[in-house]
Amino acid sequence: MTKKFQIEHRLGYRILRWVLLVALLSGIVLSTAQIIVDANRVSDDLDRQANQTLSLIRDAASQAVYSIDEDLAQQVVDGLFEQPAIRSASITHPDGEILAQNSRILLPADYRSLTDPIFGPERHYRVELTRGTESPVVYGYLEVSVDTVYSAASWLERATLTFLSGIARAIVLGLVLFFVFHILLTRPLFRIINSISRVDPEHPGDTLLEMPQGHRNDELGLWVNATNNLLVTITENQEKQAEAEARVNRLSRYDKLTGLPNRELLLAMLGTALEEHRRSGDTLATFCFGVDDFKSINEQNGYHMGDQLLQTIADRLSGDGPNGPLVAARLGGDQFVVVEQHLKDGYQCAATSEWLQRQVARPVRLAGRDIAVTATIGIALYPDDAEHSEQLLQRAEQTMTLAKTNGSNQFQFYVASVDQKIRDRKQLERDLYRALAEGEFHLVYQPQINLDSRRIIGAEALLRWDHPEHGPIPPDQFIPLAELSGSIVDIGQWVLDEACAQAARWASQGMPIRIAVNLSAVQLRQDDLVDSVLTTLRRHAIPPGRLELEVTETGFMEDLDSAIEKLVRLRNEGINIAVDDFGTGYSSLTYLKRLPVQHLKIDKQFVCDLLVNEEDTRIANTIIDLGKSLNLDVIAEGVETEEQEFYLHNRGCHLAQGYYFSKPLKPDDFASFITSFHRKITANSTEN
Ligand code: C2E
Ligand code: CA
Ligand code: CA
Repeated sequence: MTKKFQIEHRLGYRILRWVLLVALLSGIVLSTAQIIVDANRVSDDLDRQANQTLSLIRDAASQAVYSIDEDLAQQVVDGLFEQPAIRSASITHPDGEILAQNSRILLPADYRSLTDPIFGPERHYRVELTRGTESPVVYGYLEVSVDTVYSAASWLERATLTFLSGIARAIVLGLVLFFVFHILLTRPLFRIINSISRVDPEHPGDTLLEMPQGHRNDELGLWVNATNNLLVTITENQEKQAEAEARVNRLSRYDKLTGLPNRELLLAMLGTALEEHRRSGDTLATFCFGVDDFKSINEQNGYHMGDQLLQTIADRLSGDGPNGPLVAARLGGDQFVVVEQHLKDGYQCAATSEWLQRQVARPVRLAGRDIAVTATIGIALYPDDAEHSEQLLQRAEQTMTLAKTNGSNQFQFYVASVDQKIRDRKQLERDLYRALAEGEFHLVYQPQINLDSRRIIGAEALLRWDHPEHGPIPPDQFIPLAELSGSIVDIGQWVLDEACAQAARWASQGMPIRIAVNLSAVQLRQDDLVDSVLTTLRRHAIPPGRLELEVTETGFMEDLDSAIEKLVRLRNEGINIAVDDFGTGYSSLTYLKRLPVQHLKIDKQFVCDLLVNEEDTRIANTIIDLGKSLNLDVIAEGVETEEQEFYLHNRGCHLAQGYYFSKPLKPDDFASFITSFHRKITANSTEN
């Protein structure tokens, strides 16, 4: 109950009023009746006593009047006055002559005004004074008047008591009745009402009414039970209704044949998903696809089989795709939509499209026959191609229709340029698979210089790909692709093998220099990495100290413990470890202390802007200082000018690599570079 209702409206209060009123009235009526009866009795008593008194002295008075004895008469009269209630008394002759008399005033009293109207102020009595029994002769009269005040006083006292006790009894009775009523009815009623107010109208069956104690079997108990039954029934009905609504809802929002969401639900889901992507900035892809030539499948095999085929395809679409979970829906006919969320870029869609095509292409066994179909897919991306769900879906459908006119069993992106870019990338990925077997890779080497001794202490092996059509492709372009597809593992192994073979060749020519090989994060995750590195070294008879592996921070941060374990094993064999691109990633002291590292490579982006950009200079300085305090050699990469070299050397960086000394070189050029570089240094020093 939200509002406490006013006290005068409460049942208890009204009962109290009525009970008190009735009790009071009946008390008044009853005690008044009692008082009236008492008054009658008092009145009768007055008469009876007076008559008794008169009959007691009648003989004496008769004697006095008969013998005209005034003294006796006076004695009789005075005797009467012994009684305080006697107001006047007289003995008279029949002719009215007074033989003896006495009188006194009426006793004054406050309450006379109340009692006199009832009893009269005084009462008169007269008896004849006679002699003889046969035929009595009247000799005179005895007259007495009695003051009623004495009887009235005691009557009034009793009446007051009767009245007051009557009222008190009535009040007590009323209160007791009220209390009993309160205990038995109003209090449990109030509890029930409170209980009702706690019932949740949405789920009435969840909180039932409390049974008031001791009322289980009376009307209140019956009421509570009946109400509770009602509440439970209402809840059951509500649930049934909700279920029915859900069923109707389901039927109207899901495709009957496949159980997948229909267009309406898909749009609703897309709307919510787009909101989320608007905030996160991720890409969402909508794949609209149609089964190629479904019409003829229906015609050849019948609609029933066509339906079964669609059901099978629908089952294969939901679940996990190559990049993560997919949501599928059916637009009708042979058209499905698959939504993929939280993509980093559109490129990942190409993999999903191929996966979807494979799902559809898997033969379906129907009536003892394997039926294989293909699908054509149109892809629209959020936010690049459309802002809103309807537009996005429409563009995906449009793209699919367009793709179908170009042929079947393929996918196409909404924007032609995107489509081309992704297609090219996809092609490059396929080419990359072949490149290794086709011998399209080779390595170049960039010298690493000791700035103190001006001697070449090593070479970084860098991969080059000569594409048969597109010519040289920069590693920054193809290495991420190779990492995505996993082919970097084989390519990396080839690089290591080739670099070791080169190191062995140079060693045999009297140039035992250390070779640095870049190790991709994907390679670092391989369980057999350590073994394959050691086997490669052994195969080329290269001492482990002549190999340096360059790892990036991102490379080992993904699974730090396992990376550390592998690097420690490599280090224990004597292989050097360098942290590449240092300063661009996490650069945390905690992991540096746990890693068995010998070299920190300052990334070329900091060296490039050295002395121009304050921030970059500070980072380079910090790395040099960090190297000193951790006792690690720091190599500056990308040194292009004399000023950079001078600054770094002065600042305490003793190793460097960069175009200032040499671009990455082919092995033969590298060998001649070493000879000429060292000759130049020797010449310079002899000149000085
Ligand atoms: P990185 O490991 O940081 O290699 C250094 C890059 O800086 C090389 O580019 C090198 O040619 C370039 N460079 C060296 N000195 C200078 C300079 O003075 N100025 C400028 N502007 N650049 C300089 P590259 O060869 O194009 O390689 C790019 C990246 O590709 C490498 O960066 C490395 O992350 C990756 N990469 C190259 N070869 C391999 C490999 O065999 N395996 C793996 N996993 N990654 C490789
Ligand atoms: Ca490197
Ligand atoms: Ca670098």
